Amino acid sequence: MENIAILGATGSIGTSALDVIAQYPDRYHVRVLCANSNVKKLAQLASVWQPELVAVARDDLYKPLLEELAQLGVTHVSVASGTEALRAVAGDPEDDTVIQAVVGAAGVLPSFAAVGAGKRVLMANKESIVCGGDMLMTLARRTGAKILPVDSEHNAIFQCLHAGNEEDACEAKLWLTCSGGPFHARPEIDLEGVTPEMALAHPTWSMGRKITIDSATLMNKGLEVIEAHHLFNKPVEDIGVVIHPQSIVHSMVEFADGAVIAQLGTPSMKTPIAYCLGYPQRIQGSAKRLSLPELGRLDFGKPDLERFPQLAYAYEAARRGQKAAIVLNAANEAGVAAFLESRAGFVDIARVCRAMLDACDDAALASVSDISAIDAEVRQLAQQWLAKNHR
Ligand code: NAD
Ligand code: MG
Repeated sequence: MENIAILGATGSIGTSALDVIAQYPDRYHVRVLCANSNVKKLAQLASVWQPELVAVARDDLYKPLLEELAQLGVTHVSVASGTEALRAVAGDPEDDTVIQAVVGAAGVLPSFAAVGAGKRVLMANKESIVCGGDMLMTLARRTGAKILPVDSEHNAIFQCLHAGNEEDACEAKLWLTCSGGPFHARPEIDLEGVTPEMALAHPTWSMGRKITIDSATLMNKGLEVIEAHHLFNKPVEDIGVVIHPQSIVHSMVEFADGAVIAQLGTPSMKTPIAYCLGYPQRIQGSAKRLSLPELGRLDFGKPDLERFPQLAYAYEAARRGQKAAIVLNAANEAGVAAFLESRAGFVDIARVCRAMLDACDDAALASVSDISAIDAEVRQLAQQWLAKNHR
């Protein structure tokens, strides 16, 4: 039995992962479940999965979690709370595998703990790769941790790279596909007037709220460019983005001979999750099968960087270095939160990212604790900027 800890178990990726795991009761044991604040759902999951430990990141929710568990008659479970507990859980040697499905930079320290402990990390939390950068990848090489990309594009590239040897991979160019979100194909929509409801209506993927907004601004693709740059050790010049509204081709690798290898499938995160869980073996997937004859056509196009400048900012940040990437990510998280709470407009998200990148000095980082310090400082500055400048 493989022991698994799921960080972010109550979210979109967390619950999809549990659905996949449910097909293999003799192979995987869900030993730990963690979440941020949804103690009701966490307790319900605990009553179904009977883990040994449940943890909630918010310290003030320890008692409410105990009460929820008691109400459901879940008694044989250890309970922990606080961000330190989450970090300890991520590095606990009892678990072979960590599914890192926390959203945002809150995932950075648990990711360092899991990678530091040399685990198999099924990495959905792209923000940890964006902020952790070379530090996280170097740590993985030192500890032997295996970071398996859950993000569908990176999962596709990981699969496509198997079509060549290591040398071929070094010379290959990566193509990330991008649905374009709800607005890219609709130039008639004035982005100044976009509401959270409009931006949350994603045409092809069902995901958490933060990543859905990131998909609408194309920041998600920007974060993915930086993610691919680190995961596959590629200069950003060798990472292209192609708009593909149907989200069927999940990404591609172009080898030196001009051969382009793509991975296709219906848009469901259960496919990359199953691939990572079973790796290096393929296990049975549960997503709807792809029928190209029924689908009929696939479309491709170029991203509009003028209307969606955050994608260009991500290329810029990747070239500038780790600090710029952390700053861009933090400004974006502050912008998205403000937009969802109607404290800022849709276009203010890009504007605050631009303002914070302009103020960033690109100094080198000394340690992992600098990541959290820069993240916290920029979030605060971004909030102040938005309070003064939002439209
Ligand atoms: P979500 O909002 O649905 O769930 C987020 C999870 O993280 C929840 O379980 C929540 O409890 C937990 N969480 C939030 N803040 C936390 C904190 N401060 N400390 C600890 N836990 C915290 O998000 P999601 O859509 O499942 O996305 C999770 C991650 O996976 C993101 O990084 C996202 O970019 C990435 N991802 C998601 C999808 C998708 O289809 N949903 C696809 C690719 C990548
Ligand atoms: Mg993705």
